[in-house]
Amino acid sequence: MKVTGIALALAIAAASAAAVVPPSSAEPLQALLDRAEALRSSDPREFSATLRQVEALTASATADQLEQLQYLRAYELAYSGRFDDAIVQARTLFEASDDPGIRLRAGALAVNSLAATRDFAEGLRQLDRTLELVERVPDPELRSHAWFAASALYTQIGQFALASHYADRVLVASRDPRSHCFAGQQKLEAEYQNFLASEPDVVIRPPSPAEIEETIAACDALGETIVTSFSRSLLARVHEQQGGRAEAMAILEDNLAAIEGTRYPRLIGEVHSLLARLYFENGDDARATQHAREALARSSEMAFSLPLVQAHETLYRVAERRGDFAAAFDHYRRYAQADKAYLDAVKARELAFQAVRQETEEKNRTIQRLDDQNRLLQLEQKVAQQAARNTQLLVALLLVLLTVIVYWAWKTKRTQMVFRRMAELDALTRSSNRHHFTRSAELTLDRCQRDGEAVAMVMFDLDEFKSINDRFGHGVGDWVLRQVADACRGCIRRADLLGRIGGEEFAVLLPGATAAEGIVLAEKCREALHRIDTQSTGRDFRISGSFGVADTLRAGFDFNKLLASADAAMYAAKRGGRDRVAVFTPDLDGMSPP
Ligand code: GH3
Ligand code: MG
Ligand code: MG
Repeated sequence: MKVTGIALALAIAAASAAAVVPPSSAEPLQALLDRAEALRSSDPREFSATLRQVEALTASATADQLEQLQYLRAYELAYSGRFDDAIVQARTLFEASDDPGIRLRAGALAVNSLAATRDFAEGLRQLDRTLELVERVPDPELRSHAWFAASALYTQIGQFALASHYADRVLVASRDPRSHCFAGQQKLEAEYQNFLASEPDVVIRPPSPAEIEETIAACDALGETIVTSFSRSLLARVHEQQGGRAEAMAILEDNLAAIEGTRYPRLIGEVHSLLARLYFENGDDARATQHAREALARSSEMAFSLPLVQAHETLYRVAERRGDFAAAFDHYRRYAQADKAYLDAVKARELAFQAVRQETEEKNRTIQRLDDQNRLLQLEQKVAQQAARNTQLLVALLLVLLTVIVYWAWKTKRTQMVFRRMAELDALTRSSNRHHFTRSAELTLDRCQRDGEAVAMVMFDLDEFKSINDRFGHGVGDWVLRQVADACRGCIRRADLLGRIGGEEFAVLLPGATAAEGIVLAEKCREALHRIDTQSTGRDFRISGSFGVADTLRAGFDFNKLLASADAAMYAAKRGGRDRVAVFTPDLDGMSPP
């Protein structure tokens, strides 16, 4: 296995995961997955073997278990140095899964792998999206994956304040001692680098040796030699920086075997580079040269790093002090190349950071703009809805008003009609009164005259009506009048007009009829009067009337003339013995009632 700088980040990710692995269940597949989770950083060989066992059982795996396997495979690829494949696998899982927890772990693994390939811009983009998931994952140990990835990436791109911030989030949230050990080391390293990178006028305190020793003790208790080695290197640098060269040298020399035992080339190279400088300053050029060469032996794994630059610088200074200017020039050239490569790398990662930060700001601004637009649209929609409601309300109000007006108009019209009808009708018999009968008859006569149609008029007067009143009382007399009107109505046509023109006198106008047809109607009515059953009055008497018939052929179209003619005929009927029909003849003209 190729050991690289990323191994520490992966080990850190494993540290927080190991704490959350649930106890093995009876189910073999889940038990194997749990075992793989626990083994993945401490025993890579056994981890891979366990994964192969899991892969043989995938037929019975749940969707969650398949996703966990996918994550572990990506982890295996990253740990074996196949970062490009690991990135593809981790990102596929990140995009496809619905589980925020597994997505967060996959995202953090992708960030670590992108950092290992020095694709800082993509790493930062992936980090942004991974950190967004933290809100949706309540478990602080799972959250720590994202924070560790952030802290490691920000350390690598020289954003030490941010690196320290995310390490601190792990220290605050996590209950796991191993996470505390790793995060403590990351935070102290970031703080020290932040101190080195700070402007002279900004007061930033480097971590104190006591703080570093505290972390070393905590990690030592857990047997985390890798982390304690990193911390000891830091402790030596802090001592050197504070003028304690002897302490720095003692720390490194005492722990050199353990540091080399970690097999981390970058750490080992860094320690040798530091020792080279310390020995050079102590005047021990032989040891300085020896350590500088040890450091340069790891130059491929230490590319673009300050310790590599410093190792070249030490060799150059040793040669210079020795007076070997040819060698000094050669080392100086390498030193200058390494320094330029280092500074270019610093610039590149700084640029990557700025570019992605601008992208993020632009994205946030776009989101803000879209939010604003959205709010505006919602507001407009609300206004439109309100306006629509107002319109509906107005329409409803107008409809109600219209209904009220129409109802009121209809009611008024009906009342008018009722009054008019009342004014036209005789209250007792409900036939036209004399006034209305006269007016209607005049209009009909005019029309028929124009159309050349004949009109007949039948008039009748009840016989001996006075005696009915006298014998049975006025109530019975009134009853008789109503029965007579009803009986006649049953005989006339639709176009005919019945009117009560006096006390017990009635007239019927027959448009389009001659006297002959008038006689037929008069006879019908006369017989209908006979048929009126008086039993309901409690009396038994006979009702009859005397009828006179006239028409326009003989009397002309003048109403009064026609009525007088019918009247004259009626009196003729009276004179003739009552209960009969008489027709107007010119000889009757001018005859007045007796
Ligand atoms: P005839 O016509 O056959 O010559 O005899 P008559 O008894 O009918 O004579 P007359 O025409 O003189 O009598 C009409 C009576 O009708 C007089 C009046 O008391 C009565 N009368 C008029 N209007 C009404 C009414 O509205 N109700 C009642 N009960 N009687 C009325
Ligand atoms: Mg009369
Ligand atoms: Mg009479």
